Amino acid sequence: MKPASFTYFRPRTVDEALGMLAEHGERAKLIAGGQSLVPMMNLRIARPEVIIDINALKDLAYHRIEGNELRIGALARHSDLAESSLIAKQFPLISAAYKHVAHGTIRNRGTLCGNLSHADPASEMPAVMLALDAQMVLRSKKGERIVPAASFFEGMYTTALRADEMLAEVRVPVNQTKSGYGFEEMAVRHGDYAIALVASAVAVANGKISAASLAFAGVSDKALRFPALEKKLIGQAPTDALFSEVSEEAIKMIFSAAETSDDRVYRQDLIRSLTPRALKQAVAAVAH
Ligand code: FAD
Repeated sequence: MKPASFTYFRPRTVDEALGMLAEHGERAKLIAGGQSLVPMMNLRIARPEVIIDINALKDLAYHRIEGNELRIGALARHSDLAESSLIAKQFPLISAAYKHVAHGTIRNRGTLCGNLSHADPASEMPAVMLALDAQMVLRSKKGERIVPAASFFEGMYTTALRADEMLAEVRVPVNQTKSGYGFEEMAVRHGDYAIALVASAVAVANGKISAASLAFAGVSDKALRFPALEKKLIGQAPTDALFSEVSEEAIKMIFSAAETSDDRVYRQDLIRSLTPRALKQAVAAVAH
């Protein structure tokens, strides 16, 4: 199929793009990599009247350390981030998760900010950004606001972004106490969206877990993280028994007891097996 007709703009500056968003609001959509928006337009699931193409805003194609944060601009492509030695060294969870994100041609065009703005509930990066306590920098003509990942993802394909805002930058804190990371995913084929995935980050001191992040996706309408679940890990020795117990708790927190369809039972089984694996990986990777 072909998309419904639309007006196309290609702003030359960020200010120009924000002005267009302010003017056209709900009628407009930004396009970055187009890897999610174009298929949705072709299927007529999305029918924006105005397309604002940000691909000329080359200044937004960056990832770099500034102060105590990794900063990733709106035009940073998946492939640049997946292949970045800076990210591999300092943020191995991002690199590990990228091994599961789509296929080469899609990663060459798709952007991290487009991916997070799209907020597919089975996508890898929302869970990773939750686990790493990332912050989203949302810019509009009126100014800038910073929203933590924990409040950014609101539901299926729904985020805190307002119609006049651009996700201009993602900020990930550098000096994380948690130095061990694990990522486990089940997908039908490698590169597909997840049926279920678990991202973990831990710190271990004197043989006990001293800090932990645990994020899930593919199993709800958005990526999930539960502080109460993470608390159960703190102060405990990292044993198989503890990880099994935490996996069972995770299942209770993610799924309602009334959900008994085969699909739900399968996803529950995946959480039961992927969670301990992701936690073990993280503990094994802790820097000593
Ligand atoms: P676009 O398609 O350009 O935009 C997506 C949405 O975000 C649109 O609503 C757009 O208006 C909005 N948007 C874009 N940039 C911004 C911004 N800076 N600020 C505000 N709003 C913005 N993804 C995965 O995570 N895992 C997978 O396994 C996976 N597999 C895929 C397989 C296939 C076959 C395809 C086609 C895609 C797959 N994807 C997967 C999606 C891919 O990662 C996309 O690139 C990504 O979801 C969207 O990024 P984009 O830059 O292409 O965004």
